[in-house]
Amino acid sequence: MKKLKIIRTIKEMVAWSNQNKSQNKIGFVPTMGYLHEGHLSLVRTAKENSDLVVVSIFVNPTQFGANEDLSTYPRDFERDISLLENLEVDVVFFPNNQEMYPTGYKTWVVTDEITSILCGKSRPTHFKGVTTIVSKLINIVNPESMFMGTKDFQQLTVLKQMVQDLNFRTKIIGCPIVRENDGLAMSSRNKYLNEIERKNALCLSESIKSAQKMIKNGEKSPNKIIESVKKIITKKSGKIDYVEILDERTLKFTDSIDEHSRLFLAVYIGKTRLIDNANLNV
Ligand code: AMP
Repeated sequence: MKKLKIIRTIKEMVAWSNQNKSQNKIGFVPTMGYLHEGHLSLVRTAKENSDLVVVSIFVNPTQFGANEDLSTYPRDFERDISLLENLEVDVVFFPNNQEMYPTGYKTWVVTDEITSILCGKSRPTHFKGVTTIVSKLINIVNPESMFMGTKDFQQLTVLKQMVQDLNFRTKIIGCPIVRENDGLAMSSRNKYLNEIERKNALCLSESIKSAQKMIKNGEKSPNKIIESVKKIITKKSGKIDYVEILDERTLKFTDSIDEHSRLFLAVYIGKTRLIDNANLNV
């Protein structure tokens, strides 16, 4: 088996990248750890499309709001490393907070408009943290391509916009959502769910399927679909943060359903906030 290299400092990560960049396509998968099949599918796609693969594990404090779950966010570094070793990843970049945000840190990357809707409404500082950390990681790892999940569709859209606006040369490749057998989108936060909540959490994927069925049966009104989705969610005790149907190319509202219509959900199941999304024309 290939030896996995664990790098904890920016200096060493930059040196590794400089040494390998000219001869190899470097693929990069940024994560917050506590890895599941969703993350691993990104790693597999990165491996298929790159010569060398770097995975970062960093629970980025700046993308958590003051009352969010930073301190309880699940972590299991040993398990993560063994999963990545099995997939023959080349490097795990595992910096600490002081390495990424040293005392006196002052600079932020901000994307406008598309960060103030959906998750940006209820998590107003979230995307500023995401765009800042991903800018830093791109500069440190200097990858040819970065692989990210459509599970976080808004994040993917924001980062594609950022890469374009700031002329980063790294390409962003969006990868499909990996789900549990019963439909629940995989997420590190699913660990928070107790047995009853785990069952209730199916209202997200079930409401997506039901919306897709409505459209197959000819429904064209976004509002009617949204109302029906909301009913399914509240019946399973889900507390709605948002249910929206937007054009997936622009994240703007549409009057009528077409092939670009995507349903976006954020729902509290107990105290756990879960997100999901899907194109509605499948
Ligand atoms: P996270 O560790 O939650 O920050 O996620 C790291 C990357 O994994 C992001 O690009 C996510 O979109 C992606 N990801 C998380 N869950 C899934 C999933 N169920 N399917 C595919 N990708 C995912």
